[in-house]
Amino acid sequence: MLNPKMEAALNKQVNEEIWSSYLYLSMSYDMDEKGFSGASSWFAKQAQEEFEHAQKIMSFITSCDKKVKLMPISEVRQEWNSPLDAFEDTLLHEKKVTSYIHSLMDMAVELKDYACINLLNFFVSEQVEEEEAARKYISALKVINKDTAAMYMFDQSLAQRS
Ligand code: MG
Repeated sequence: MLNPKMEAALNKQVNEEIWSSYLYLSMSYDMDEKGFSGASSWFAKQAQEEFEHAQKIMSFITSCDKKVKLMPISEVRQEWNSPLDAFEDTLLHEKKVTSYIHSLMDMAVELKDYACINLLNFFVSEQVEEEEAARKYISALKVINKDTAAMYMFDQSLAQRS
């Protein structure tokens, strides 16, 4: 049994996750255009992961015998000044997503929806990792600053993401 309020909130989160995927895809192509092939590849993988998040919620909705409602995807930003700018935007965005996940968890707890709490536990942990990764790259890029050789090495290391 999925409460209609919970169902609507989960559908909204599906849209948020697909929007995230869209945002990171945009970052990926912008980084590619600016010559940062490692960052481009990192954001492409991030986009894929966000789509998997959407799929995870969609299959939960389906498992509860409810229909997924796909909503329009809003436009995303097209340009960032640098990889640092992109990762700073990433951290900002992920903090917002964390607050959405926490609100969903509050609702699931209030409704005593244990299956939903179980689903959301995955996302709670995931958000800790997302924010940690963005912070780590921001710190590294601030140290690198205008050192082009270090920037090249760092960009290459981003391509290693599996
Ligand atoms: Mg996500």
